[in-house]
Amino acid sequence: MTKSHTFSRATLPVAGEQHARLTVDLAALSENWRTMARRSGAARAGAVLKADAYGVGLEPAAHAFYQAGARDFFVATPGEGAALRPLVPDGRIFVLSGLWAGAERLFFDFDLVPVLASEEQIAVFMAAVADGREHPCALHVDTGMNRLGLRSEDALALAGDPARPAGFSPVLLLSHLACADDPSHPHNRQQLQRFRAVVAAYDGIEASLANSAGVFLGEDYHFDLTRPGISLYGGAAVNGVPNPMRCVVTAEARILQVREAKAGESVGYAAAAVLTRDSRIAIAAIGYADGYMRSLSGAGVPLRRTGLAGASAVLHGRPVPLIGRVTMDLTQFDVTDLPPGSVRAGDFIELFGPNMPLQDVAIASGTVDYELLTGLGRRYERYYQAVRK
Ligand SMILES: *Cc1c(COP(=O)(O)O)cnc(C)c1O
Repeated sequence: MTKSHTFSRATLPVAGEQHARLTVDLAALSENWRTMARRSGAARAGAVLKADAYGVGLEPAAHAFYQAGARDFFVATPGEGAALRPLVPDGRIFVLSGLWAGAERLFFDFDLVPVLASEEQIAVFMAAVADGREHPCALHVDTGMNRLGLRSEDALALAGDPARPAGFSPVLLLSHLACADDPSHPHNRQQLQRFRAVVAAYDGIEASLANSAGVFLGEDYHFDLTRPGISLYGGAAVNGVPNPMRCVVTAEARILQVREAKAGESVGYAAAAVLTRDSRIAIAAIGYADGYMRSLSGAGVPLRRTGLAGASAVLHGRPVPLIGRVTMDLTQFDVTDLPPGSVRAGDFIELFGPNMPLQDVAIASGTVDYELLTGLGRRYERYYQAVRK
């Protein structure tokens, strides 16, 4: 699936066949997990590895977190859990989508813990363990998001139900916060209060509420186990405050051509950008097929002519704006303000990374860093860098 090279940044090849490369900093992954573990206070910190570890690569991410000390892992689907199992032999793997009829085998064969989300899922689980088989499960309680989970009043009723199946004893109660990225949102405390009531009713069972942003809400939200995801990968969990995490992913693309164009000429599809000055345009080998979304064109796309600037990238230490529309394989950048001759075909342009925050690029396309990372596509050459910068 992914190549596992070990390169120090200084030795990344410039000559080479790759049109675009992703560099993943393994030391930053481990350090980010340790940071979230420390911020989780008395609670254990887990690690969320769904969607190929947010696009970063399941295997290197799992190793980094395991080595740093993580033993509780969360994935979205049973298939992801099966792929993770050999990488964390003695780890506990929770599957957030829960269980459905037909998927039971994967849970038994790979020792996965389903996070049961509904009465039906509980029934499927109880039927699967009816022959006296020992197998752990977790219970998902919806405390105010109306996504997955038993409604909190139903979870309360189930706790006190004398007819509750004897074998039904979850190892973890889990709920998910809807508004944790906004610490002042009143929804956070409401969900906390509902979750506390459920946790009290299931005396002695471990509980987990906080995603990355939830960890930053403080110890009230930590319970026994936290579930950081985006922060581990260097994303910004909380809006409007400086991001304390280390940058993990750098995405770069090769410049294929540098061209001169005259004031009054247009650039790219639909002649969407018209030059107001004589310009130098760098053509980068990156496009929406690589997950560099067309919506990054900002005002270059008609439906988004709202004055949004679109994305910038960084070339030789200077920000350069995207100009015109992102296409499938190619994107134009305006490099007029860089010294003449400084930009050459073959150079790499940083799309995001240490000099161009992931979240700034995400915001330019009207999305979040989660979507940008998980949509990166398969065409990048990937470098997993073990050496500390
Ligand atoms: C994805 C997910 C997380 C991780 O969230 P981040 O915001 O990436 O930290 C935690 N819990 C659940 C239920 C999730 O679906």
